[in-house]
Amino acid sequence: MEVEQTVKERLQKLSSIGSDPTGGLTRLLYSDSWLSAQHYVQDQMKNIGMKAAFDEVGNLFGRIEGSELPEETIMTGSHIDTVVNGGKLDGQFGVVASLTAVQMLQEKYGQPKRSLEVISMAEEEGSRFPTVFWGSKNFVGIANNDEVKDIADANGKKFVDEMHRQGFDFQPQQKRRNDIKAFVEEHIEQGSILETEKECSCTVKKQATENNR
Ligand SMILES: [Zn+2]
Repeated sequence: MEVEQTVKERLQKLSSIGSDPTGGLTRLLYSDSWLSAQHYVQDQMKNIGMKAAFDEVGNLFGRIEGSELPEETIMTGSHIDTVVNGGKLDGQFGVVASLTAVQMLQEKYGQPKRSLEVISMAEEEGSRFPTVFWGSKNFVGIANNDEVKDIADANGKKFVDEMHRQGFDFQPQQKRRNDIKAFVEEHIEQGSILETEKECSCTVKKQATENNR
């Protein structure tokens, strides 16, 4: 597998799902493009031999069982939803990077000792409904269903109706997994350091050299 090429192809494909005529990507929670993107990721997970399944609310998990310590999970991933006119590297890059990294590790080293899991989170942006972190809150067992049961988007579409329309529902009870030993999310920088410093790694290297003098 050519890693860079694979990442680019997956990003390109995902960027075509929810592409917004006014610029960037608009892939809002429980929209049709949101579901298409999750299905694309699910297909990719299956293609590389992962078990890929959704939880009740629409978080997607791809899993490779460990050979020696299957009950210990190393998890990685990010979110699939976007803001309105979102950038191509926000969220979906983390999903694609995680998926491709696990694929590469598996091709190189075979079955892992611990279980590896890739998550494509349902929602982190708060860009459609007046709620945020719906995906991760459910995943870590702290979602409050009462907070979303009466909310609607700017067009008056109710959260609950849209969730049901795409085949998802509330988790009957909040649960927290105890098997996750580490979590890695690769995400674009939220601040401006890279942009203002332009060549960040060089600056860091330069500082490190100066500090060592
Ligand atoms: Zn993000």
